[in-house]
This record gives sequence, C-alpha cells and structure tokens, in this order.
Amino acid sequence: MSPRPAGIPDAQWCDWTWQMRSRVRTAEDLARYVDPTEDERRAIELLGERFHFVITPYYAALMDPKDPECPIRRQVVPRLAELHDPAGMADPLDEVAHSPVKNVIRVYRDRIAFCVNNECALYCRFCLRKRMLGDEEWSMKKGELEEGLAWIRRTPEIRDVLLTGGDPLVFSDERLDWLLGELRSIPHVEIVRLGTRLPVTLPFRVTDALCRMLEKHHPIWVNTHFNHPRELTPEAASACDRLSRAGIPVGNQSVLLRGINDDAETMKALCEGLVRMRVRPYYCYQAQLLEGTAHFRVPIERGIELFRSLRGRTSGFAIPLYVLDTPHGKVPLMHSYLKGREGDHMLVETYEGAAWRELNPRAGKGEL
Ligand code: SF4
Repeated sequence: MSPRPAGIPDAQWCDWTWQMRSRVRTAEDLARYVDPTEDERRAIELLGERFHFVITPYYAALMDPKDPECPIRRQVVPRLAELHDPAGMADPLDEVAHSPVKNVIRVYRDRIAFCVNNECALYCRFCLRKRMLGDEEWSMKKGELEEGLAWIRRTPEIRDVLLTGGDPLVFSDERLDWLLGELRSIPHVEIVRLGTRLPVTLPFRVTDALCRMLEKHHPIWVNTHFNHPRELTPEAASACDRLSRAGIPVGNQSVLLRGINDDAETMKALCEGLVRMRVRPYYCYQAQLLEGTAHFRVPIERGIELFRSLRGRTSGFAIPLYVLDTPHGKVPLMHSYLKGREGDHMLVETYEGAAWRELNPRAGKGEL
C-alpha cells in the first residue's frame, strides 16, 4: 500500500467515489499532505481559478511533503512560473478548428479524438486540454454526446475512436456502458480506445465491475499516462493488471517534462517499470507550446539524445516513440541511424555509434 494520511479506513480510501468527493482544492487542503511553499500558496491564489487546481487524496499522498521539487508534486501543484510563458498558447494544436462538431477532433482521415467530458480526477499543470478542464462551456450533455455519435455514424471512414476528455473513466459505469454500446452499434467503428490517467491518479476507479463492463465492448484499448517511476505504485500496478486480465492492451503515453523525467535514468526506470506491469511504453510527447508551461519544456535535441541513449541499453519495446504533436499530426523525433547508400551497401550506425555496411538490393524497374 502507498502512503496515506492516518485515520482513514481502507474501505474509504479505496472507494473511488470517496476519493473524488474528497479532492484537494485549496492551499489548506494541500497542507494536509505537504508543507506548501510561499510560491505554491501564491500560485494557488493567483492561478487556481484560471487553470483549476484539483488533486485526488491518493495522488496527493504520493507527494514528498518536504520537497517542492518532488516530481509528483510538480505535476499538479501550481507554481508562479506558470505566469511567465510568453510563447504559450491556449490551443496549440488548433483542436477547436479541427472539430466538425463539439469536442470531436479530427486530424487524420480514419480516426478521431472524442472529448466526452471536461472532468478529470486531478488537473495536471501541463495538460494540453487545460482550456476545457472544469469549464462548463466544454462539458458534454447527453444531447451533445449524441450529436458526436451521430457525426461518427454518418462518417464511414472513421474506424478508430479515442474517447478522451477530460477523462472518460470519470463517467459512471452506466454512462460509459451506454456510450460504448452506441459506438459498437456503428458498423464502421472497428476499435475504441480510452485515454485515461485514472490508473495513475485514481487506480481504485478500475474496479472489477468496470472491467467486466469494458470486456463486453471489445476490442477496447487503453492508453494511460505515467510520467515518473514513483507513480508505479502497487495500486497502479493492480489497476493495470485488472485491465490486462480483461483482455485490454494497456499502453502508456508520457510527456517529457523538465526536472521530472528528462534524464535517461528516470526515463529508463519508468519504461522498465511499465513493462514489468505489462504496460507498453507507446509515446513520449514533447511538451506542447501550451500556456503556462515554459518551465516544463525540454529542448527537442535533448529529448532526442535521451531516447538515443536508451537504444541498445534496454528492451526495444520498452522505448517509447518520442513525438511532437502538431496541428497536422504527430511527427516522430529521433536520431537517424541511416547514413545513406554507398554503392551496393547501405551505411548505418549501430547503437554504440559504430558504422555498419549492409548489402542492400537495388530497386527494380518501377520500384522505389
Ligand atoms: S489527466 Fe490528462 S486530460 Fe486530465 S488533466 Fe491530466 S493530462 Fe489533462
């Protein structure tokens, strides 16, 4: 069991609805878990309304009470640095312009992200969708969900639907069951993905009943969002295990965050820990040019070097693809190991930096 404040019985602590009702929302609430610094208190006061401040008790209990640089704490507690970001934008991926109907984001021909709600268990300070979190304008009434479903129904090229938000697992089992049932009744929707951080921030949400319900709607895939090895708790591991046992492949999408996971040792520990939990490291995102997040961004060249340093030093499938998301889709960011053709050979570089010449067939007539 991970740490928790004294005096809270198991049944309460492990009840996800209690966790949601008891979330940290003020500096006074926060003081039950850590000693807030003056910077944190001021930032909560100045920013709490603009970029809402909410943390689950479970996640708050993972924070180091004494260290403001704690990688858990920095992800969720406001800092005054958020006020200094001249380059940051509210919607850097231009998602609103890519939405044919409310909260349906279409960048690719065959798949969409459907932001089914504007609520999360907690609010990450670097959240791409911070513009909509907790803001009534972006909430989704049943009629608006039905409009999104109707759009998917009349758009036959959509074969892959990502339910995101906010977080779709904040929905009750009944509402999610209804939504998945509706999607499953659309013949051209082949797979449904759930983008959820609840296995990390509120693992008790992944109940047996939820897994039984999800199982009815296969093929379901889950992508979750661990950023640091300290998030790999026994509770989080059990939540991922329950999903895997329900036949749901679980992947991880992290964000490269300065001072949190931007060193090779931390990233390796995170990725290897995920693999031990049968969670596949899938993407690591370059942090977006998002308002209030300059203090989290890492130069892309450094990110490329970080992932290059993992190549050959851990299992290949433990290394996520480092990507930059743009309004025109994702761009892989990686060191090029291909050095070009030399006569009948292709010159490549090994992970240790040595040169290797591989006999390379010439393209036939009409081939590339
Ligand atoms: S869990 Fe995801 S959607 Fe929710 S605040 Fe964090 S990054 Fe944003």
